[in-house]
Amino acid sequence: MDWKKLSTTKITQVYKSIFLNQCYLCQTHCQSTICKTCHEGFPLNLTHCLHCKRPTHLPNILCGHCQTSLPTYQLCFAPYRFEGIIKTLIHSIKFNQGTHYIRPLTELLSAHLIDSYSKQSWPEQILYVPSHPNRIKERGFCQTQAIATQLAKTLKQHLGEQCPSLPKTNPLKKVKNTHAQHSLARKERLKNPQNSYLINGAIAEHVALFDDIMTTGSTIEHCVKLLLKAGAKRVDIWLIARTPDK
Ligand SMILES: [Zn+2]
Ligand SMILES: [Zn+2]
Repeated sequence: MDWKKLSTTKITQVYKSIFLNQCYLCQTHCQSTICKTCHEGFPLNLTHCLHCKRPTHLPNILCGHCQTSLPTYQLCFAPYRFEGIIKTLIHSIKFNQGTHYIRPLTELLSAHLIDSYSKQSWPEQILYVPSHPNRIKERGFCQTQAIATQLAKTLKQHLGEQCPSLPKTNPLKKVKNTHAQHSLARKERLKNPQNSYLINGAIAEHVALFDDIMTTGSTIEHCVKLLLKAGAKRVDIWLIARTPDK
Protein backbone atom coordinates (compact mmCIF):
# COMPACT_ATOMS: atom_id res chain seq x y z
CA MET A 1 0.00 0.00 0.00
CA ASP A 2 1.18 3.51 -0.82
CA TRP A 3 0.86 5.24 2.57
CA LYS A 4 1.35 8.68 0.98
CA LYS A 5 -1.99 8.24 -0.83
CA LEU A 6 -3.86 7.41 2.35
CA SER A 7 -5.85 10.56 3.11
CA THR A 8 -6.17 12.07 6.57
CA THR A 9 -9.93 11.54 6.35
CA LYS A 10 -9.41 7.83 5.73
CA ILE A 11 -6.96 7.58 8.64
CA THR A 12 -9.50 9.35 10.89
CA GLN A 13 -12.24 6.94 9.76
CA VAL A 14 -10.08 3.90 10.48
CA TYR A 15 -9.00 5.35 13.84
CA LYS A 16 -12.63 6.02 14.78
CA SER A 17 -13.79 2.54 13.81
CA ILE A 18 -11.04 0.92 15.83
CA PHE A 19 -10.91 3.14 18.89
CA LEU A 20 -14.00 5.26 19.21
CA ASN A 21 -16.93 2.87 18.94
CA GLN A 22 -16.08 1.31 22.21
CA CYS A 23 -16.44 2.10 25.87
CA TYR A 24 -13.37 3.91 27.25
CA LEU A 25 -13.53 1.82 30.41
CA CYS A 26 -14.41 -1.76 29.47
CA GLN A 27 -13.74 -1.62 25.70
CA THR A 28 -17.05 -3.27 24.77
CA HIS A 29 -18.59 -2.11 21.50
CA CYS A 30 -21.01 0.81 22.01
CA GLN A 31 -22.09 4.08 20.42
CA SER A 32 -21.13 6.34 23.33
CA THR A 33 -17.78 6.75 25.06
CA ILE A 34 -19.00 5.13 28.30
CA CYS A 35 -21.31 2.08 28.00
CA LYS A 36 -24.57 1.77 29.94
CA THR A 37 -23.22 -0.95 32.24
CA CYS A 38 -20.12 1.09 33.22
CA HIS A 39 -22.24 4.22 33.69
CA GLU A 40 -24.45 2.37 36.18
CA GLY A 41 -21.40 2.30 38.47
CA PHE A 42 -20.95 6.11 38.33
CA PRO A 43 -21.85 7.98 41.57
CA LEU A 44 -24.78 10.14 40.41
CA ASN A 45 -25.43 13.17 42.60
CA LEU A 46 -29.16 12.57 43.02
CA THR A 47 -29.93 13.94 46.49
CA HIS A 48 -28.26 17.29 47.00
CA CYS A 49 -28.70 20.84 48.29
CA LEU A 50 -31.07 22.77 46.00
CA HIS A 51 -28.56 25.58 45.52
CA CYS A 52 -24.94 24.41 45.90
CA LYS A 53 -25.49 20.72 44.93
CA ARG A 54 -23.66 19.55 48.08
CA PRO A 55 -24.61 15.85 48.47
CA THR A 56 -27.25 15.49 51.21
CA HIS A 57 -29.22 12.62 52.72
CA LEU A 58 -32.58 14.28 52.08
CA PRO A 59 -33.71 15.64 48.69
CA ASN A 60 -35.03 19.18 47.97
CA ILE A 61 -33.50 21.02 50.91
CA LEU A 62 -31.10 23.93 51.33
CA CYS A 63 -27.96 22.78 53.14
CA GLY A 64 -26.86 24.48 56.38
CA HIS A 65 -24.08 26.39 54.57
CA CYS A 66 -26.54 27.86 52.04
CA GLN A 67 -29.05 28.69 54.77
CA THR A 68 -26.34 30.66 56.61
CA SER A 69 -24.93 32.39 53.56
CA LEU A 70 -26.36 31.77 50.09
CA PRO A 71 -23.56 31.66 47.45
CA THR A 72 -23.91 34.41 44.84
CA TYR A 73 -23.97 32.20 41.74
CA GLN A 74 -27.37 31.68 40.13
CA LEU A 75 -27.27 27.95 39.38
CA CYS A 76 -24.87 25.10 39.96
CA PHE A 77 -24.70 21.87 37.95
CA ALA A 78 -22.85 18.87 39.39
CA PRO A 79 -24.08 15.57 37.93
CA TYR A 80 -21.73 13.36 39.98
CA ARG A 81 -20.38 12.97 43.49
CA PHE A 82 -16.61 13.10 43.85
CA GLU A 83 -16.08 9.48 44.86
CA GLY A 84 -15.55 6.03 43.33
CA ILE A 85 -14.83 5.87 39.61
CA ILE A 86 -15.36 9.65 39.14
CA LYS A 87 -12.62 10.37 41.71
CA THR A 88 -10.29 7.89 39.97
CA LEU A 89 -10.89 9.40 36.52
CA ILE A 90 -10.47 13.03 37.64
CA HIS A 91 -7.27 12.20 39.54
CA SER A 92 -5.92 10.38 36.55
CA ILE A 93 -6.64 13.41 34.29
CA LYS A 94 -5.11 15.83 36.81
CA PHE A 95 -1.82 14.00 37.03
CA ASN A 96 -1.67 13.84 33.27
CA GLN A 97 -1.70 10.11 32.60
CA GLY A 98 -5.42 9.97 31.94
CA THR A 99 -6.09 12.90 29.58
CA HIS A 100 -7.96 10.47 27.26
CA TYR A 101 -10.72 10.38 29.93
CA ILE A 102 -11.47 14.07 29.28
CA ARG A 103 -13.62 13.21 26.26
CA PRO A 104 -16.01 10.74 27.94
CA LEU A 105 -16.38 12.98 31.02
CA THR A 106 -17.15 16.07 28.95
CA GLU A 107 -19.70 14.11 26.90
CA LEU A 108 -21.48 13.11 30.11
CA LEU A 109 -21.38 16.68 31.45
CA SER A 110 -22.56 18.18 28.17
CA ALA A 111 -25.54 15.77 28.02
CA HIS A 112 -26.45 16.85 31.58
CA LEU A 113 -26.13 20.56 30.66
CA ILE A 114 -28.16 20.23 27.44
CA ASP A 115 -30.94 18.61 29.44
CA SER A 116 -30.73 21.23 32.23
CA TYR A 117 -30.74 24.27 29.88
CA SER A 118 -33.63 23.02 27.75
CA LYS A 119 -35.99 25.59 29.30
CA GLN A 120 -33.64 28.53 29.86
CA SER A 121 -31.06 30.58 28.02
CA TRP A 122 -27.47 29.42 27.72
CA PRO A 123 -24.63 31.55 29.12
CA GLU A 124 -22.72 33.62 26.56
CA GLN A 125 -19.25 32.75 27.81
CA ILE A 126 -17.46 29.74 29.32
CA LEU A 127 -14.65 30.54 31.75
CA TYR A 128 -12.78 28.13 33.99
CA VAL A 129 -11.07 28.21 37.39
CA PRO A 130 -7.41 28.09 36.35
CA SER A 131 -4.35 26.60 38.07
CA HIS A 132 -1.41 28.82 38.98
CA PRO A 133 1.26 29.07 36.20
CA ASN A 134 3.82 27.31 38.47
CA ARG A 135 1.43 24.39 38.98
CA ILE A 136 0.85 24.24 35.20
CA LYS A 137 4.61 24.11 34.67
CA GLU A 138 4.92 21.21 37.13
CA ARG A 139 2.08 19.18 35.58
CA GLY A 140 2.63 20.20 31.98
CA PHE A 141 -0.97 21.37 31.52
CA CYS A 142 -3.97 22.98 33.19
CA GLN A 143 -6.65 20.33 33.58
CA THR A 144 -9.58 22.75 33.88
CA GLN A 145 -8.48 24.49 30.66
CA ALA A 146 -8.15 21.13 28.87
CA ILE A 147 -11.57 19.96 30.08
CA ALA A 148 -13.30 23.31 29.36
CA THR A 149 -11.82 23.34 25.83
CA GLN A 150 -13.15 19.85 25.08
CA LEU A 151 -16.48 20.71 26.71
CA ALA A 152 -16.89 23.80 24.48
CA LYS A 153 -16.14 21.62 21.40
CA THR A 154 -18.67 18.97 22.43
CA LEU A 155 -21.36 21.57 23.19
CA LYS A 156 -20.70 23.31 19.85
CA GLN A 157 -21.47 20.05 18.00
CA HIS A 158 -24.89 19.97 19.65
CA LEU A 159 -25.76 23.67 19.94
CA GLY A 160 -24.12 25.29 16.91
CA GLU A 161 -24.40 29.08 17.05
CA GLN A 162 -26.22 28.98 20.37
CA CYS A 163 -23.09 27.58 22.03
CA PRO A 164 -21.37 29.76 24.65
CA SER A 165 -17.90 30.86 23.57
CA LEU A 166 -14.66 30.00 25.30
CA PRO A 167 -12.35 33.06 25.12
CA LYS A 168 -8.89 32.40 23.60
CA THR A 169 -7.36 33.63 26.85
CA ASN A 170 -9.20 32.95 30.09
CA PRO A 171 -9.78 36.38 31.74
CA LEU A 172 -9.75 34.72 35.17
CA LYS A 173 -6.13 34.35 36.37
CA LYS A 174 -4.64 32.68 39.40
CA VAL A 175 -1.96 34.98 40.75
CA LYS A 176 -1.09 33.41 44.09
CA ASN A 177 0.11 29.81 44.32
CA THR A 178 -1.96 28.42 47.19
CA HIS A 179 -1.72 24.95 48.70
CA ALA A 180 -3.86 22.22 47.20
CA GLN A 181 -7.33 22.56 48.77
CA HIS A 182 -7.66 18.91 49.80
CA SER A 183 -4.47 19.10 51.89
CA LEU A 184 -5.91 21.81 54.15
CA ALA A 185 -8.38 21.74 57.02
CA ARG A 186 -11.82 23.25 56.21
CA LYS A 187 -11.10 26.44 58.15
CA GLU A 188 -7.84 26.92 56.21
CA ARG A 189 -9.54 26.12 52.91
CA LEU A 190 -12.13 28.81 53.51
CA LYS A 191 -9.38 31.38 54.14
CA ASN A 192 -7.23 30.18 51.28
CA PRO A 193 -8.62 31.77 48.08
CA GLN A 194 -8.48 35.40 49.27
CA ASN A 195 -6.59 37.51 46.71
CA SER A 196 -5.53 34.42 44.78
CA TYR A 197 -7.36 35.32 41.56
CA LEU A 198 -7.87 38.40 39.41
CA ILE A 199 -9.74 39.33 36.24
CA ASN A 200 -7.98 40.61 33.16
CA GLY A 201 -10.26 40.68 30.12
CA ALA A 202 -13.85 41.15 28.99
CA ILE A 203 -16.61 39.41 30.95
CA ALA A 204 -20.02 38.63 29.43
CA GLU A 205 -23.30 39.34 31.24
CA HIS A 206 -24.17 35.67 31.62
CA VAL A 207 -21.13 33.53 32.40
CA ALA A 208 -20.64 29.79 32.94
CA LEU A 209 -17.74 29.12 35.28
CA PHE A 210 -16.31 25.61 34.94
CA ASP A 211 -14.35 23.71 37.57
CA ASP A 212 -13.79 19.95 37.69
CA ILE A 213 -14.84 19.57 41.33
CA MET A 214 -16.18 21.76 44.12
CA THR A 215 -15.12 21.04 47.70
CA THR A 216 -15.99 23.82 50.19
CA GLY A 217 -17.08 26.19 47.43
CA SER A 218 -14.90 29.02 48.78
CA THR A 219 -12.67 29.24 45.65
CA ILE A 220 -15.73 29.27 43.38
CA GLU A 221 -17.50 31.88 45.53
CA HIS A 222 -14.39 34.08 45.48
CA CYS A 223 -14.19 33.84 41.66
CA VAL A 224 -17.95 34.48 41.26
CA LYS A 225 -17.68 37.67 43.32
CA LEU A 226 -14.81 38.85 41.10
CA LEU A 227 -16.85 38.10 37.96
CA LEU A 228 -19.90 39.96 39.29
CA LYS A 229 -17.71 42.92 40.17
CA ALA A 230 -16.19 42.84 36.67
CA GLY A 231 -19.58 43.16 34.95
CA ALA A 232 -21.24 39.75 34.96
CA LYS A 233 -24.94 39.87 35.86
CA ARG A 234 -25.33 36.16 36.28
CA VAL A 235 -22.84 33.33 36.88
CA ASP A 236 -23.71 29.61 36.57
CA ILE A 237 -21.34 26.96 37.91
CA TRP A 238 -20.54 23.88 35.81
CA LEU A 239 -18.87 21.03 37.66
CA ILE A 240 -18.22 17.39 36.96
CA ALA A 241 -18.51 16.46 40.61
CA ARG A 242 -19.30 17.77 44.07
CA THR A 243 -17.41 16.48 47.12
CA PRO A 244 -19.59 14.92 49.82
CA ASP A 245 -19.01 16.25 53.36
CA LYS A 246 -16.65 14.09 55.42
ZN1 LIG B 1 -18.09 -0.05 29.63
ZN1 LIG C 1 -26.02 24.29 49.75
